[in-house]
Amino acid sequence: MNPFDILVVEDEEAIAEAVSARLLNEGYRVRTVHDGLQALQAVAQQRPDLVVLDLMLPGMDGLEVCREIQKSDWIPVLMLTARTDEADKVAGLAVGADDYMTKPFSLRELAARVRAILRRMERIQRGAGAEAVTRFDLTVDPARRRVLQGERELALTPLEFEILLTLARHPGVVFAREQLMDRIWGYRDYAGGRVVDSHVARIRRKLGDEAAEPRYIRTVHGVGYSFREDGEAP
Ligand code: CA
Repeated sequence: MNPFDILVVEDEEAIAEAVSARLLNEGYRVRTVHDGLQALQAVAQQRPDLVVLDLMLPGMDGLEVCREIQKSDWIPVLMLTARTDEADKVAGLAVGADDYMTKPFSLRELAARVRAILRRMERIQRGAGAEAVTRFDLTVDPARRRVLQGERELALTPLEFEILLTLARHPGVVFAREQLMDRIWGYRDYAGGRVVDSHVARIRRKLGDEAAEPRYIRTVHGVGYSFREDGEAP
């Protein structure tokens, strides 16, 4: 019944099997590969709806694979990491992973994350007919899944795209981090706010908006984020 294709990239046999068994059980179509090169080939051939990607892989590691996927495709990546290092998580998010889980994780939680990411992708697709939002020199266009800054097209991941679209649609409205998590992720993470922060930081980097007083997305300290209203002094 479930039309989604999921690619699992994991070199540890036991984990690969457990993850794919669980996802098959949830009704997804699942393909499993064991290294980064196979992963990129599978992505090119199969164009999965989601990639579950282990960080530590032989040869090309997960970060590299994730970066490659994000270069050419609009495919969400759920990163699996063995280390609890905050730096690792941030690195994963920085190369465009939509989400991460730290091993050992529960398969139920994994299934919940997968569902949440796929729901988000559906929501983005459903919203594809929506009108483009233009603020200042920035146009966020759901129909074409495109962000233009002046004439320049920016490459955002699906998650970054939705965060930016949500904020830009409601200029001046302050979104608490938890609100953004509920609305966009569909669940709350223990790391909560920091996950939102790292995605916003990445969006700002892509917008070239890293000055102390950002031109587009304003930080509301201790609360969250808000897109600048027209005419608001920078
Ligand atoms: Ca591994």
